[in-house]
Amino acid sequence: MKNIAKVTFHGGTGSVTGANFLLEADDKKILIDCGLTQGFKVADDINWDPFPYNVKEIDMLFVTHAHVDHVGRIPKLIHEGFRGKIYSTEPTKLIAQPILEDTGFILSKNKEFDLAEIFSEENQKLMLSLWQGFKYGEKIKITENLEVSFRDAGHILGSAMVEFIFNGKKILFTGDLGNSPSPLLPDTEKITDIDYLIMESVYGDRNHESRNDRRKFLEMTIEDNYKRKGTLIIPTFSLERSQELLFELDELVENNRIPVMPIFFDSPLAIRITEIFKKYKNYFNKDAEKKISEGEHIFDFPGLHSTLRSEESKIINTVPNPKIVIAGSGMSAGGRIVHHERHYLPDPNNTILLMGYQSVGTPGRLIQEGVKTVHISGEDVPVRAHVVTISGYSGHKDSDGLISFVEDTGETLKKVFVVMGEPKSSMFLVQKLRDNLGIDASAPEKGDTVSLVC
Ligand SMILES: [Zn+2]
Repeated sequence: MKNIAKVTFHGGTGSVTGANFLLEADDKKILIDCGLTQGFKVADDINWDPFPYNVKEIDMLFVTHAHVDHVGRIPKLIHEGFRGKIYSTEPTKLIAQPILEDTGFILSKNKEFDLAEIFSEENQKLMLSLWQGFKYGEKIKITENLEVSFRDAGHILGSAMVEFIFNGKKILFTGDLGNSPSPLLPDTEKITDIDYLIMESVYGDRNHESRNDRRKFLEMTIEDNYKRKGTLIIPTFSLERSQELLFELDELVENNRIPVMPIFFDSPLAIRITEIFKKYKNYFNKDAEKKISEGEHIFDFPGLHSTLRSEESKIINTVPNPKIVIAGSGMSAGGRIVHHERHYLPDPNNTILLMGYQSVGTPGRLIQEGVKTVHISGEDVPVRAHVVTISGYSGHKDSDGLISFVEDTGETLKKVFVVMGEPKSSMFLVQKLRDNLGIDASAPEKGDTVSLVC
């Protein structure tokens, strides 16, 4: 029917990760995101099942942002014959490359599912040849009745909500929504005329601590660790959290808020992505933009050592305390942080600082929950170091933030579909939207299809 759009929830239901939605409108089949499902592992086995739709019939793919749980299965899509267009913002296209190369490098060791073949250089090249970058707000006309544009989600550099206008009705896929105000990025764009909303719910049931205090907490954690003459290890996500952290440390160091000590930025991927960030100054918020225009290097300061090569990384252990080590991965499920954790977690003078979302089952989540011993790359490691969590730096809106995002468009909304959260979180948000705003909301299950009258 000409006025019906259909959405099928193929991923990102009952889970934060694995975003993959199919929109059918005006005889077009359009995917929104094609991410990896992640839990205990970088990629669950479920990722390598065949797609539940005919990949060759898909006309185009819209990518909200470059996090691996939104882009990680694009090479598989290509491998199975997708040759449609891929659309995203310009930074997302650029950042997705190192992210997918890195993911491919990790996954190619898996022989069971032929992942080296899926993540081959050839597939990645083909993927880039299909990929087109756009600016926020630029209109993309798909058919006479269907138009799309990207709106700033304020989540990571280049992150976007995808806004479809079909027969004059607005269908919005949020991707991940930023915890505005962010130290670096502009706030999430306010949208007031949405008809159908497909929204994330990572923190649907929880609020973050005040954002005003986050820099103070960071400062205090660094000072405490300095006084104990310990090593402060910070597992971080290579994308956005790392750059945000450098920006915050730059502020603290330049304003003499923390003592000078060696700070190691021990993540080759994050170092590469930081170089991309430097190219997109006009995507930052006013505060960051002003500092750059005044000649400040917002990701560089005295004491910072970027350790690209593994020989450089190995020397970190021999550098006397106090010191700070920033490394990936953000949930301690791999990467260089694993070696640092083995080395530093057993000592009560050290600190581990968790600043990002820790997925159920990951070593990061276990450490956060206070386990006495954690199993890291085949070894039981005693956790005696101080465990500190600062949630104010989360890249996601909290429960109140999500509610207020919906409230802004409450007058026109017909229905909200709550996805991309653990079930408890999604259900809590659904209930809150119904109770507080009187809005028709539900949390779809995997494979559900809904018809939207447009
Ligand atoms: Zn994200």
